[in-house]
Amino acid sequence: MSDYTVLSTQELQQVHMDLLEKFNKLKDENLALDMSRGKPSPDQLDLSNGMLDIISADTPLKAEDGTDVRNYGGLDGLPEAKAFFSNILNVSSNEIIIGGNSSLNLMHDTVARAMLFGVNDGETAWAKLPKVKFLCPSPGYDRHFSICELFNIEMIRVDMLEDGPNMDQIEKLVQEDESIKGIWCVPKYSNPDGITYSDEVVDRFASMKTKAKDFRIFWDDAYTVHHLTDKPDELKNILTACKQAGNEDRVLIFSSTSKITFAGGGIGVLASSENNIQYFKKLLAMQTIGPDKLNQIRHIRFFKNVENLSTHMKKHASIIKPKFDMVLNKLESEIGGKNIGSWVEPNGGYFISFNTLDGCAKTVVSMAKEAGVKLTGAGATFPYGHDPRDRNIRIAPTFPSLIELERAMDVFCLCVQLASVEKLLK
Ligand code: PLP
Repeated sequence: MSDYTVLSTQELQQVHMDLLEKFNKLKDENLALDMSRGKPSPDQLDLSNGMLDIISADTPLKAEDGTDVRNYGGLDGLPEAKAFFSNILNVSSNEIIIGGNSSLNLMHDTVARAMLFGVNDGETAWAKLPKVKFLCPSPGYDRHFSICELFNIEMIRVDMLEDGPNMDQIEKLVQEDESIKGIWCVPKYSNPDGITYSDEVVDRFASMKTKAKDFRIFWDDAYTVHHLTDKPDELKNILTACKQAGNEDRVLIFSSTSKITFAGGGIGVLASSENNIQYFKKLLAMQTIGPDKLNQIRHIRFFKNVENLSTHMKKHASIIKPKFDMVLNKLESEIGGKNIGSWVEPNGGYFISFNTLDGCAKTVVSMAKEAGVKLTGAGATFPYGHDPRDRNIRIAPTFPSLIELERAMDVFCLCVQLASVEKLLK
């Protein structure tokens, strides 16, 4: 592999001609491939089809405490559902609310409530303040940033490092600025970098001094059981760390079964201190008489316990690991050694984050589109869609078949090479 950055202009021009010829041939194939969103593939969804047969007209439809799951009630979830998710998230049953079908929905509503009523009794509604700001470790999850935009919350970019967000930057900012009220975190197998926060990062989050008394960490633990290897990453329990540091109301933990069972047909959960949970329940009671308990019972009877959940997640891994390997092998064989891109091999989650040479991401995405491959928009992983170095592209390998993915990666790698050579020739 030759390092493109040391080639002479003449050599680069030759490489450019060869790549362009290949690119034009690819365009003639009229491909239509999609690597844009982190969706489970149909065969992953099939793994949970058994859940559809769990309840029928003949099944007893009472929960453990006698609740008829067909009727109203159970605002914060069935006891067995709370116990199941408490085990997954390592919190107590009093520290959890079982929501509807989506954790993003819970995050949106939590921000909305903070805007309208404040984060707890006696706290000022954020919407009454002249300015509300959130810290946004980037690259991050675009839909978190969209929630901020919707509520006119100013976003401040924070760098991602190898073991989590840059805590020096964060500690300084939250200590100085009272209008910083929150931060978005995907602490395990982060979207898109695939990294897990270190114990030190978790402890610093729990104990840092914040100028805003009502500062909240939005801890989106979406990929907590989504391992790709037999040696899963371990994430330190932030609620326990916050309690130990005397800041137990600081963290709001979100998760869901969207990528465990059915995406959009799963269960979202919110975990936090008992104090926060009581406050949310009071407001939630005005919003709904209770969530879908039929879906809760389906999930609980399907999994029965956390051990079965682990076995189920291994089946997911056996479907998607070969896809991650395919992407990583292609990157290594086509881009490795050329000094035109970098990426991290994740131990779990749904994405591979790729960094081009500065200033090339937009070009790569539009070239790939021209050749029939849809990628997540360049910049989407940054607040306001603005990647200051125009270099990050989120690769989502799970949805396409292995054959489609291989083709899509051929196109992707070619586009990265072409865009890089064009940049180096400028
Ligand atoms: N959080 C993260 C980090 C995600 O990547 C996703 C989906 O891609 C979600 C939340 C959405 O979760 P849900 O389907 O529970 O709303």
